[in-house]
Amino acid sequence: MSYVDEILEKLIIKNPSEMEFHQSAKEVLESLRVVVEKNEEIFRKEALLERLTEPERIISFRVPWVDDNGQVHVNKGFRVQFSSAIGPYKGGLRLHPSVNQGIVKFLGFEQIFKNALTGLPIGGGKGGSDFDPKGKSDREVMAFCQSFMSELHKYIGADTDVPAGDIGVGAREIGYMYGQYKRLTGLFEGVLTGKGLTYGGSLTRTEATGYGLVYIVEEMLKHNGGKNFKDKKVVISGSGNVAIYATQKAQELGAKVVALSDSSGYVYDKDGIDLDLIKEIKEVKRGRIKEYADAKDSAIFTVGKGIWNVPCDIALPCATQNELDLEDAKILKKNGCSAIAEGANMPCTIEAVDYFLENNILFMPGKAANAGGVATSALEMSQNSQRLSWTFEEVDSKLKDIMLNIFAKTNEASKRYGLEGNYVAGANIAGFEKVAEAMQFQGIC
Ligand code: GLU
Repeated sequence: MSYVDEILEKLIIKNPSEMEFHQSAKEVLESLRVVVEKNEEIFRKEALLERLTEPERIISFRVPWVDDNGQVHVNKGFRVQFSSAIGPYKGGLRLHPSVNQGIVKFLGFEQIFKNALTGLPIGGGKGGSDFDPKGKSDREVMAFCQSFMSELHKYIGADTDVPAGDIGVGAREIGYMYGQYKRLTGLFEGVLTGKGLTYGGSLTRTEATGYGLVYIVEEMLKHNGGKNFKDKKVVISGSGNVAIYATQKAQELGAKVVALSDSSGYVYDKDGIDLDLIKEIKEVKRGRIKEYADAKDSAIFTVGKGIWNVPCDIALPCATQNELDLEDAKILKKNGCSAIAEGANMPCTIEAVDYFLENNILFMPGKAANAGGVATSALEMSQNSQRLSWTFEEVDSKLKDIMLNIFAKTNEASKRYGLEGNYVAGANIAGFEKVAEAMQFQGIC
């Protein structure tokens, strides 16, 4: 049996019921076959793939907190410190009822390669809890965040592990967690990223994932027939931070974004999304996407999934894992969509991705496409270490360079293995090569 098959088989047996982790490991290892085959003997001897797929450490803990009625609740808290081969563990914290160990492991595993692709010295990690911030008061969210950090602070630090936001964790949650970390440790250090601008946050961090996504898609379009966003019809799922700032940048580049969604359904606006309105609803009021259609005559709201039925030239899934399956992929193709890029982590199923690749539809995987967020987090860490704050333009221009560089590395690796245009293989290979080399230099650890 090949080394890759052996590892995948063992991984499923050793980690039963961690479906999302199996999926991300399969996606990565399948595309590493070509690299592994060339180095099979040495990789086997060093158990390189066993070490790569086993987290260095998993911290799992109880998070008790009190709601506004005095009722005590208990949630599960996690931090997976997956790989420190190229730098301190780095990756977000997700607060969503679906969070479990398998999901945090898949996200941490993805993060290793994504972070390597940024070219910055950050290892891979991820964390979170099954706490649902939706519908909670600010005080309840603060109580949860303080309790979560009361345990987590023992394991993190500016040079060891630097968490950030992800689904359900934005400026409010990061603020409460930072305050608690400082109170418990006495340290004012860059232990979290995505901080507010008054206490060490970086300009452009809020916009970074969405902007970065559009920068890399623009580059991919340019390399494939000299195309661009101008006058393109774009459908973006989600309506959080990533979706909103992808909408903004795509509009700046001349695209018409016609649909956005949330977990309840999607809005289609034939006149194009009104950015101020969606920001008001989502960022100020923490409202639901339906309110957009209530406020705008040209928009209609449809309950449920189905956003991929909206005809478009470019689709940017920016909501959550496995939100776009084979059926959706077929509908997108039928409607003439020619480019897809993942703003979320693993939003397309393996079958959908294979379908895009087989049908010559341009596809940029999340590891490359949404790396702008964590890259800007690394820039926030640099500013914190220097005790400096860079301007919006400085950070934005660095972000753009990083995204173009990720495209170049991804493209180069795919070509080197005779897989030109397969950016899934390119991103996985380029990320893996850096991490594997660092692991080999550092001996068995
Ligand atoms: N959660 C984001 C991601 O999936 C950002 C992580 C970070 O900034 O550390 O990459």
